[in-house]
Amino acid sequence: MIVGTSVAGVRVAQALRRNGGEDEILLAGEEPHLPYDKPCLSKGMLSGALAPEKNCLLTESAAAELGIRTALSQRAVGLDPAAAVLHTTAGPVPYDRLVIATGASARRLPWSNLPGVHSLRSRADCEALRADLRRGARLVVVGGGFIGCEVAATARGLGLDVTIVEPEATLLPAAGPELGALAGEWHAGHGVRVRVGEAVRDIARAGGVLAVELRGGEVLDADCVVLGVGAVPNTGWLEGSGLDIADGIACDAWGRVRGHENILAAGDVARWEDPVSGAARRIEHWTNATEQASVVGKVLAGASEVAAHRANTYVWSDQYDRTMSFVGRRARATRVARFDDPRKGGVAFVGSDEQGGLAFAAVVNWPRALLAVRKAINDSVPCAAVEEQLTAVA
Ligand SMILES: Cc1cc2nc3c(=O)[nH]c(=O)nc-3n(C[C@H](O)[C@H](O)[C@H](O)COP(=O)(O)OP(=O)(O)OC[C@H]3O[C@@H](n4cnc5c(N)ncnc54)[C@H](O)[C@@H]3O)c2cc1C
Repeated sequence: MIVGTSVAGVRVAQALRRNGGEDEILLAGEEPHLPYDKPCLSKGMLSGALAPEKNCLLTESAAAELGIRTALSQRAVGLDPAAAVLHTTAGPVPYDRLVIATGASARRLPWSNLPGVHSLRSRADCEALRADLRRGARLVVVGGGFIGCEVAATARGLGLDVTIVEPEATLLPAAGPELGALAGEWHAGHGVRVRVGEAVRDIARAGGVLAVELRGGEVLDADCVVLGVGAVPNTGWLEGSGLDIADGIACDAWGRVRGHENILAAGDVARWEDPVSGAARRIEHWTNATEQASVVGKVLAGASEVAAHRANTYVWSDQYDRTMSFVGRRARATRVARFDDPRKGGVAFVGSDEQGGLAFAAVVNWPRALLAVRKAINDSVPCAAVEEQLTAVA
């Protein structure tokens, strides 16, 4: 039984089959659509460049070929691990082994229910937002993280008047001020008003217009608002189940849920232990979710010597004609160096930690540098060696 029909759930099922697992598989999820991928919800699907039917992670025929039964529009509402029963909106479902891949939801704010105020996490969210993105309309994006910035770029492409409000000093705060400052310049260059160091105090709707009041007292009129203020793991339905769900489901480095040998978890909902640092953390990025799913599939199939999964922080973001990538942890960096690719305008920032290790790297439009830093982070290459490589590829 796999609950959650997005990338982690689908990839677990596929990996189980790829590794020879012959178990019956039931893949159940609350959404009515066949499994689809989320990264394009703020990019091609929001702009209209990608038709929804082209965004499919598992077609009906592929599911049939792999012997995967799907149960759509079924929400998990409770779990009884002692009885090995999952409670769903369609009734109780007994399982031999359960994989939880219920992902995360957009964080809500007090204004989330106002008409014209959107969050973006599902295909339904994307369709509702797209319907409001009319040329010339005024959009305020609250939160200048990756998703907020992508929505802003897509909306500019559709001809909207866009403002981003971000309380930190630069956009993309998780990626650090270096990339954030560049992103701010690019957005401003495309005509987006970038209001960093500003927080929203209130949003009210009157006469069909939204008034977004900033802490400083200024009021921005908007036809539409997008809240891009982070995500929270979908664990509410597990309250009372006995699972450790403090900021995601606590798992070992193979996705086995602590204290429950027949339950595993993967993706944005899971807090896996990292075998390198020993710390457990939740990562909300696509690549980490797919890698965890692959490990869980192997474990379920009984593959021998499955390697412990190393946390993968790699994330990419497409904004205008730029692909930005980030890997590592900016907060650990004590020194940051910039490299430029003079031929194609690529940029890379690398940060060294106190011990000279590579704390993080942020790369824009520079595939060779990206390959180098991803490999370096994976192989724990010292930062000085990475800097030499970047000088060589520049
Ligand atoms: C707009 C957007 C853009 C993104 N862009 C990027 C990007 O460019 N790069 C990147 O690395 N990452 C990106 N991400 C993050 C990436 O999409 C996620 O890390 C990935 O989708 C996680 O997959 P998941 O399967 O763990 O969870 P999710 O994709 O969150 O899926 C969980 C599924 O479980 C279902 N579910 C939840 N609760 C229940 C329940 N109780 N019962 C049944 N079903 C339930 C949900 O409806 C959903 O279908 C983006 C995310 C969003 C929302």
